[in-house]
Amino acid sequence: MLQPGQTIGILGGGQLARMLAMAAAPYGLHCHIFAPRGDNPAFEVAQAHTEAAYDDFDALARFAAAVDVITYEFENVPAATAAFLQARKPVRPGPKALAVTQDRLSEKEFLQAAGLPLAGFAAIDSLSDLKAALARLGLPAVLKTRRMGYDGKGQAIIRSMDEAEAALAGLGGGDCVLEAFVPFGREVSVIAARGLDGQVRAFDVCENQHRHHILSKTLLPATLGTTASGLALDYAARIGQNLDYVGVFTVEYFVVGTGADEHVLVNEIAPRVHNSGHWTIEGAQTSQFAQHIRAIAGWPLGSTTRLGRVEMDNLVGDEAAAWRDIIGQDGAHLHLYGKAEIRNGRKMGHVTRIFPEKTA
Ligand code: AMP
Repeated sequence: MLQPGQTIGILGGGQLARMLAMAAAPYGLHCHIFAPRGDNPAFEVAQAHTEAAYDDFDALARFAAAVDVITYEFENVPAATAAFLQARKPVRPGPKALAVTQDRLSEKEFLQAAGLPLAGFAAIDSLSDLKAALARLGLPAVLKTRRMGYDGKGQAIIRSMDEAEAALAGLGGGDCVLEAFVPFGREVSVIAARGLDGQVRAFDVCENQHRHHILSKTLLPATLGTTASGLALDYAARIGQNLDYVGVFTVEYFVVGTGADEHVLVNEIAPRVHNSGHWTIEGAQTSQFAQHIRAIAGWPLGSTTRLGRVEMDNLVGDEAAAWRDIIGQDGAHLHLYGKAEIRNGRKMGHVTRIFPEKTA
């Protein structure tokens, strides 16, 4: 169990690491950020930072010596980096979470083995694999790279057999997964935490709207029946247990069917705090960032009770220019990430509004 005054090491220097460091401070914990050269907005809110590449093992050794526990803000931590650090200090969440979630194929196989519902899929390493899988799963279908995809990057929708060859070539010719197209009504997510003692606590189900494949808006309560919502929470708990997970993680779902047929299919798992959980900073008793710090410190998890109806809007690219209007609005909680350069599609900040609900 960490003691106040000890130090958390965080791999990655973006807004998630920044908000983790800000959540550690009230607990008297220090953060040391490790990130490669670039725009690292987390550096300015942390006690210490190391600017070095993830394969700079001398720098990693010094970093490990300076911290008491290590976590990360992104799932693509190279396996060799994680193994090197793991040999020196506890890395939470552990290696299984990284190995499973870095690769869409192993993630889907893990979900299937856990008995959770997901879209039909097939491993694709050649055009003949792809044609056979399209014949089995049907059209349209979505081809995705196994690794390094995010915000819709590394994927292509295939609407006819004629498009198969170009789609596969565009994604590198192999190391892909084909997924059946899901005619979903909505997308929702569950942010949950699992403590060192195995306790799981989840926040309420979030409803997420995307624009150009980037999260645009999160709303709570989600428009979802109690059965489907209960299943989404149960599946998340099962994922946490089966990954032997410590920390906050996110499960994204597609909602399909209506009325009595409404149910959820798992889309993907993120082994980290998540954009759809930013509302918890003002909208829940404990924020997702504070919850992650508690979990990896070996501390009791906090209450996930929601404080009202929630609207969270991302400020992407130029939208951040609206900060002047937003800051003048009563009850608008503005977060700007301190990024040096506005770029198209770049997450620059977010704004959360909480509307207290009447209690009976
Ligand atoms: P992903 O990176 O896998 O979360 O995909 C990004 C977005 O693409 C999702 O949030 C969906 O809006 C869409 N998408 C991904 N996979 C599918 C699918 N199998 N069927 C329908 N839409 C999908």
